[in-house]
Amino acid sequence: MNQIVANQRQFFNTHATKNFNFRLKQLKKLDNVLKANEQALYDAIYKDFKKSSFETFTSELALVYHDIKDARRHLKSWGKVKRVGTNFLNSPAKSYIIPEPLGVCLVIGAWNYPYQLTIAPVVAAIAAGNTVVIKPSELSAKTSAIMAKLISQNFDANFLKVVEGGVAETTALLKQKFDKIFFTGSTQVGKIVYQAAAKNLTPVTLELGGKSPAFITKNCNLKMTVKRLIWAKFLNAGQTCIAPDYILVHNDISQKFLELAKAEILKEQFSFKNDNYVQIINDRNVERLKKILDPEKVYFGGKIDVENRYIEPTLLHNVTFEDAVMQEEIFGPILPVMSYVSLEDAVNKVNSLPKPLSCYVFTNNSEDKNDILSKISFGGGAVNDAVMHITNTKLPFGGVGPSGMGNYHGESGFKCFTHYKSILDKPTWLELPLKYYPHTPFKLKWISRFMKF
Ligand code: NAD
Repeated sequence: MNQIVANQRQFFNTHATKNFNFRLKQLKKLDNVLKANEQALYDAIYKDFKKSSFETFTSELALVYHDIKDARRHLKSWGKVKRVGTNFLNSPAKSYIIPEPLGVCLVIGAWNYPYQLTIAPVVAAIAAGNTVVIKPSELSAKTSAIMAKLISQNFDANFLKVVEGGVAETTALLKQKFDKIFFTGSTQVGKIVYQAAAKNLTPVTLELGGKSPAFITKNCNLKMTVKRLIWAKFLNAGQTCIAPDYILVHNDISQKFLELAKAEILKEQFSFKNDNYVQIINDRNVERLKKILDPEKVYFGGKIDVENRYIEPTLLHNVTFEDAVMQEEIFGPILPVMSYVSLEDAVNKVNSLPKPLSCYVFTNNSEDKNDILSKISFGGGAVNDAVMHITNTKLPFGGVGPSGMGNYHGESGFKCFTHYKSILDKPTWLELPLKYYPHTPFKLKWISRFMKF
């Protein structure tokens, strides 16, 4: 690990990565490599958890391609030196901000969208002019292996290097001194990463998880709400960081919501036989989900095929905040539905819990919408939709508090891997004597005028 980081640092210190053409070339190469090996990428992810090529393209590769395209198109403008005004006290002078890469970065990925969550931060890091050590999740072993293979075959290890492995390898990597650590994963491991980074005062971006609520108010388009919500929840069998974790629906329409949600699941034919319905990533997670699924609260679904790691899309009703399913991020195809009478009480309840990564509001009532958006602190979200906000790269993506810190995609990704160096650039032909000794009342009078900002 030591040698990998030392080699990358040596390469970074040649300043080669700062060149815009170098960055553009590497981004284009990455795009070509991914596109040329799409079938191998599909095969690997199918072996890991039976994710279909359709979903792999739409929820992973398409987003990575878009990030690459966006970065290539805007790189020069994001990375250009920006002039700003100069205050009177410093005049005559120029003031400007130089965006500079942070250096040698570590990107630690999660398994649930292994390509998107591992490669998209790498795209941002390359665009900003860094070198990257990449640690994919060991839980999706085949996708980790294909990423390692493609990167090592096509890129200089002094620039991009994949280190495969689990806790031991990540722990060893975290002992190295990086200039930036970008971590995607659980809040629990996020704390370990943050502590390790603190030892070297390394800046971090933490893309974590949490329980993301979806509010459904009385005044909503219930049919459309159900359609969009069911898709968003059961995409990737609920193993999505921004999946709606639980529903808070107005009491008057909660029964109708359950009926329509069941009908929608049946219509979409999420089932054990459907090739587009992915597996739970491993046995440990099947066991975890089994434990929190209370059979007495099942409204629809609930069947578990332990051997094949499948859990039926499941709706739970009569759920309370005390139930096991409400004590942790579900990260699986189980949707607890709770009803509320007072929106204010529901908002207060959510506010008493850790700040979520996402929050969704299904309503046509702008007062309710504004209430929820202004009173609850969360990473990001959508009104009358769920999950889709991640596809707009103009929206910085990230959590707040326990759901994360920092954000990325589009320009925010570039910023995340960039230091903005501020420069005051002065000519030498003029120097007022005011700040120099001896200090006199006359000088103070003038200096206090100049220093009125
Ligand atoms: P995880 O935290 O278990 O693992 C993430 C990474 O950390 C992996 O690469 C793993 O090897 C490493 N790791 C695990 N234990 C470690 C330890 N003790 N020390 C050092 N490194 C360790 O998370 P996961 O199971 O891969 O993903 C699920 C979680 O990630 C969920 O909470 C989900 O919400 C969150 N997530 C967040 C986002 C986001 O963009 N905010 C995206 C996907 C997943």
